Amino acid sequence: MIEIKDLAVKYGDFTAVKDLNIEIQDGEFFTFLGPSGCGKTTTLRCISGFEKASNGQIVASGTDLSGLLPEERNLGFVFQSYALFPSMNVYENIAFGLKAHKVNKKIIKSKVESVAQRTGITEHLNKKVSELSGGQQQRIAIARALVLEPRILLMDEPLSNLDAKLRISMREEIKRLQKELGITTIYVTHDQEEAMAISDRIAVFNLGRLEQIGTPQEIYNHPKSEFVARFIGDINLLSGKAEEKIKENCGYDKMQKCYIRPQKIMVQSKGQKQEDDDQICLTGKVAGFEFLGSYSKVKIDTGDDTVIYSTIFNNDNQFLIGDEVTLCIRKDDILAFGGDAHEQ
Ligand code: ATP
Repeated sequence: MIEIKDLAVKYGDFTAVKDLNIEIQDGEFFTFLGPSGCGKTTTLRCISGFEKASNGQIVASGTDLSGLLPEERNLGFVFQSYALFPSMNVYENIAFGLKAHKVNKKIIKSKVESVAQRTGITEHLNKKVSELSGGQQQRIAIARALVLEPRILLMDEPLSNLDAKLRISMREEIKRLQKELGITTIYVTHDQEEAMAISDRIAVFNLGRLEQIGTPQEIYNHPKSEFVARFIGDINLLSGKAEEKIKENCGYDKMQKCYIRPQKIMVQSKGQKQEDDDQICLTGKVAGFEFLGSYSKVKIDTGDDTVIYSTIFNNDNQFLIGDEVTLCIRKDDILAFGGDAHEQ
């Protein structure tokens, strides 16, 4: 287990990380997620030993890491910039760390070949780094970290230099590899979709503080703060008459802000859905319709300049701009924050 206890990092008067407490289980794929500048990399650098904490402790498997140099911590790193040696071929890049540890040549060969096979780069071992694509180079960076058999793998935005399609296939591979090896992994990203796809649990950071820790499902379906609700996935902030009606029916106070996820809004041709104890219905007009392949995004004008977005699967109804519709929202799906009442 890795325990981050009361961690704080200050740069002069500026506090980059404060009061951070996280426990990461053995074999877990754990992600630090948050907008730029929220302290993710600083925290990762404290774990790696490249950054000194102003306060707090990091303990891995019962050992306090603070007295150890980065190379004594038994960690593997994969960075956004692959940091490969351009003058060496792929084999030499992967073997570099083992050579530095004066490992026997035969053992190096077998370890490099084994990790190359796992990461799917065997055919590139004799190539120069410059001959390879971004995705292949990132795989080598991963192989180079794994060959040292670290107890913890740290990855800082490892996929940001790749195009969208490659990012998706690489994240699947990283997840598969991590599960196969069972290596505790801490991953940094600002991409919430990537975080949800790859992680067992996610810590959402904001302004150097922890907002929430949970599984992707927990943080998406049960965000503990307005920041998390807005940062993870699309969401509608209700306003105008729609907000009034919902607050009245659900007993929220005036100061609370009410949110609803687009896919939780059921859209039907006008009059088809009836209100009941569990759901509230509103009427509106379709103001926009975007076909996005497997789903469509419907923009609905509910009057008084209020628009609500809904997403529908494309085997459901199709709508034309100007269609009159009824939209129904289950009371349980409303996320309310602020005000006097407790947050849901
Ligand atoms: P990004 O996704 O952009 O990398 P991040 O969440 O990883 O962001 P950090 O790199 O941890 O953010 O930085 C947190 C804050 O600390 C930022 O405001 C940054 O400007 C500041 N910071 C980081 N390193 C230093 C430093 N050496 N000196 C002063 N301020 C720093």
